[in-house]
Amino acid sequence: MIRRLIILIAVLAPLSVFSQGEWNQKFEQLGTDLPTPNTYRTASGAPGKDYWQQRADYKIAVTLKDETQSIEGEETITYYNYSPDDLKYLWVQLDQNIRDQNSEAVQIDSDGLNRVSQMKKELSGKQLQALGRDFDFDGGFKITSVTDSEGKDLPNLINGTMMRIDLPEPLVPQGEVSFNIKWKYNVQDRMNMRGRSGYEYFPEDENYLYTIAQFYPRMAVYDNVEGWQNKQFLGNGEFTLEFGDFEVDLTVPADFVVAATGSLQNETDVLTMKQMDRMKKARKSFEKPFFIITEEEAKANESSRSKESKTWKFKAENVRDFAFAASRKFIWDAQAVKIGDKTPMAMSFYPKEGNPLWELESTKAVVNTLKTYSKYTIDYPYPVAISVHSASIGMEYPMICFNWGRPDADGKYTDAKKWRTIMVIIHEVGHNFFPMIINSDERQWTWMDEGLNSFVESVTERECYPDMPVRRGPAKTIVKYMKSDKEMMRPIMTNSEQIIQFGNNAYGKPAAGLDILRQTVMGPELFDYAFKEYATRWAFKHPTPADFFRTMEDASAIDLDWFWKGWFYTTDNVDISVDKVTWFQMGIPEPEELENKAKRSRKIKKSGGETESMTTQINDEPKTFSVKDTDKKYYGEFMNVIDDKKIMMNHENKQFYEVKFSNQGGLVMPVIIKWTYEDGTEETEKLPAEVWRMNEQEFTKVFIKDKKVVGVQIDPLEETADVNPENNFFPRSLYESEFDEVKKEG
Ligand SMILES: [Zn+2]
Repeated sequence: MIRRLIILIAVLAPLSVFSQGEWNQKFEQLGTDLPTPNTYRTASGAPGKDYWQQRADYKIAVTLKDETQSIEGEETITYYNYSPDDLKYLWVQLDQNIRDQNSEAVQIDSDGLNRVSQMKKELSGKQLQALGRDFDFDGGFKITSVTDSEGKDLPNLINGTMMRIDLPEPLVPQGEVSFNIKWKYNVQDRMNMRGRSGYEYFPEDENYLYTIAQFYPRMAVYDNVEGWQNKQFLGNGEFTLEFGDFEVDLTVPADFVVAATGSLQNETDVLTMKQMDRMKKARKSFEKPFFIITEEEAKANESSRSKESKTWKFKAENVRDFAFAASRKFIWDAQAVKIGDKTPMAMSFYPKEGNPLWELESTKAVVNTLKTYSKYTIDYPYPVAISVHSASIGMEYPMICFNWGRPDADGKYTDAKKWRTIMVIIHEVGHNFFPMIINSDERQWTWMDEGLNSFVESVTERECYPDMPVRRGPAKTIVKYMKSDKEMMRPIMTNSEQIIQFGNNAYGKPAAGLDILRQTVMGPELFDYAFKEYATRWAFKHPTPADFFRTMEDASAIDLDWFWKGWFYTTDNVDISVDKVTWFQMGIPEPEELENKAKRSRKIKKSGGETESMTTQINDEPKTFSVKDTDKKYYGEFMNVIDDKKIMMNHENKQFYEVKFSNQGGLVMPVIIKWTYEDGTEETEKLPAEVWRMNEQEFTKVFIKDKKVVGVQIDPLEETADVNPENNFFPRSLYESEFDEVKKEG
């Protein structure tokens, strides 16, 4: 299989190679591709002296009705205008409206590749239902009122997932305005209709488990980059949100347990004495999770059907969103984590169906995530970090996320399921940093949160779970995608809704790119400092791609424009070939005899039809070159004498290797060369990517060695995502033997 692919690539490669001499400007600066720096966002990638962002505070009261699986709510939003602009109207996001049967999202729902939908010879009932959107479900927000602070109706207009609220008079800079919205909506069955939030019904004990988000009208972002970010929510491009403080009252059946963004304000009203006492102990439990509700207690609670309700009160400061989970089924464990001068609680909420996997792994994964991410970005600033078990999704919100990973009915699970569950938890908890704190515009750029998050996720997995097979991050994990059909690819710098192959484009490729920067281009010391600087500069702010690109260069003194240009703005891949290795020694040249020694050359048919002679062996007799005295004109005005004899003596017994490299894939990269010597020893050296700056297609370089070389291999540790390993070897035959060895080991 591997070989077949390689042959295919070898045949296709000449087609993708640009004509010789064409200058592709891979080392030109990004220039006009980036916005002009200003006093809001500086050329260094930091927020400027006039940087501003809006703020929205929320007071929300919501009732979750278990009998009808619906939500009723009201809120007061206080919106602060820190922009220099008068605002005549405000835009509010009504994300639930994508669940309306007539929504744009429903009409264009696609398979994530380049099809909207297509017929098959055979469709399952579920597929047919999805195809016809045959769901008996009345979705979308029913807005019942929009009023000003005195209760007077405010004129408004709903356009899909956005609502414009017209202000009686413009909101001036530094002004604030409060208004109220009342609404209700039906919560959908997430198992059937997908979605980031919803409920799961458990027929055995007739209970619902709610994971609730996008449940309230939320302020759209107004900034100096987009103005109002009111691009419709179509399903892929996630959310763009302002920071603010939240006070949220959640009224649920009295026997429900609730997990939410923020700190619980009224423990004494909603928890038992026993639970409060256990919580106190958990706050001192740094080594392992402590049960607040045990599995036995959660099972007993499943058969309860309280007619009463209780209100759980939460407060969250400086968050961009709020989500919660509620059920009778929750087991609850908690562990304290020391992060800088704070002690956040890592907690998990899960039904018995998640065990034993969840009690063993969930909270532990939360702890590992907080510690590792804090090291590479900023200290986790919030009081809690919660992982909630949900059957089919991984989805993130501030301080809380919903994660899948359920053992079989008998509680058994494979290693693969264990690893996938831990990965999802690390990933979703990791989203607290990107984008919940380093608050990029998800509607515009999926990679800015998913890519950066997948990268730190991968670092966390490698540091905390060395036995885990890592799915993203290391360069070699993206090779299969990079060498696939370019028709099925878009550059990373593509708007969230136009991405095809979402996981590879917005998660895998940027994560691998950052890994290449860290391991190969910048080195961990410079990379880690710059990456942390980016996180520090943009924590609780709204960064853009340019802010990231510029900061990484600003803090490291490495010009990375070539990397951003190639890896983020194109679909080119890395395929560096070592085309020829010629061995020389000092001596009397015998040109004629040596030139005829082309016995080992073979003819390779090129796709264009012409043939070209290509030597695939190192010449086994050295070519020779002579040294003559240096011309006097090089001696310089101070009469420094070049000692030709000494120079000659220094090189007398050296082996000279002239190596020709070519760029077959389009992307430039550092060239990592492993030399194997006659005596079996090896040596690796690295040329920076700038070695391509004068000729982006090919270059020749001479290497002077003490010992005779028998083999050359480039990218020996597979750290540059080179898509074609065969031409990384010289002689080419080394590829075959390496490949056989891998087969033996495997
Ligand atoms: Zn994600």
